[in-house]
Amino acid sequence: MIVPILPYRPKGPEMSAVRESTSAKIYPATLVRSERITPEKSAEDVRHLVFRRDDLSFSCAMGQCVRVMAPGQYGNQYHPRLYLVADNVAERDGGIEFAICVKRHNYIDDFNGERYPGIASNYLCDLPVGTSVQFTGPFGYPFAMPASRKANILMIGMGTGIAPFRALIRTLYETYGSWDGKVRLFYGAKSGLEMLYMNDENKDLAQYVYQPTFKAFQAISPRPAFDAPVAIDQAIAQNAAEVWEMLQAPDTYIYLAGVDQMQASVNQALIAICGSADTWYELKDALKASGRWHEVLY
Ligand SMILES: Cc1cc2nc3c(=O)[nH]c(=O)nc-3n(C[C@H](O)[C@H](O)[C@H](O)COP(=O)(O)OP(=O)(O)OC[C@H]3O[C@@H](n4cnc5c(N)ncnc54)[C@H](O)[C@@H]3O)c2cc1C
Repeated sequence: MIVPILPYRPKGPEMSAVRESTSAKIYPATLVRSERITPEKSAEDVRHLVFRRDDLSFSCAMGQCVRVMAPGQYGNQYHPRLYLVADNVAERDGGIEFAICVKRHNYIDDFNGERYPGIASNYLCDLPVGTSVQFTGPFGYPFAMPASRKANILMIGMGTGIAPFRALIRTLYETYGSWDGKVRLFYGAKSGLEMLYMNDENKDLAQYVYQPTFKAFQAISPRPAFDAPVAIDQAIAQNAAEVWEMLQAPDTYIYLAGVDQMQASVNQALIAICGSADTWYELKDALKASGRWHEVLY
């Protein structure tokens, strides 16, 4: 069945992103690999897409986003959408390769109950290898890396928010070879099938569980079929003693990435660990002021 795509007027941050993009320089890049990273039996289609440019005029880093200028419909020249950088940029044969992780997005119209495909995510997920895609950016600041290998790293993410953490973990254990501080990943998804880079289809992150300083804690929705919130707060609460110890350490860096709704549960869990909202927000301000708090929420 062919379903019509209605024109969509972006609001809030997306709108300012659209305005900004009209003057941004466009960098075309070619899709060289498109891999589904959720198992076939999962209802969610999430893909790891690798793009290549044949020169070095464009670059991006973990913690930043790139903007895909999806071809326009209904008189729009483009539909610009932001995506997190999902891997470290690789320089190869005089060009660069970078990756994004895209969840196929569909939504149900409130009025007629019909299902419509999200414009850019469906464009990207259906894209044949060899197609040229228009990018702008990068946007945002790259994740600052601790100066010392003894620093602790606490990552909290949900859904496609895992993308920059994959790059960060690879940097610690592949580029640097090892990391002495504690590296902890709290990662939430609807079910085990949707644990990106940690499921039967793609186990990229599983190779790091043998690293003595790395531990990953998974949180899933108690009722995946009914859109119940993912219990990221419970996963953090179950490890309260260690999280508290890390929060107290002067060299702990915290990274947060994923959907905006996770912020409330993360704050709730950290308030409980700190004993009061005042203590947590004071600590958070201090982390921000010392450059040890990084977040990309959407
Ligand atoms: C900083 C940032 C980083 C991001 N990183 C990632 C990432 O790494 N991976 C990723 O998959 N996504 C990421 N996103 C989200 C991404 O930018 C897109 O928003 C997402 O892919 C959906 O885009 P789409 O064009 O497919 O859907 P759209 O067509 O934009 O639809 C999205 C939503 O808009 C509403 N909508 C659209 N059309 C209508 C209509 N006609 N009537 C009513 N409502 C409508 C619906 O609520 C729908 O759910 C990020 C967003 C931001 C802001």
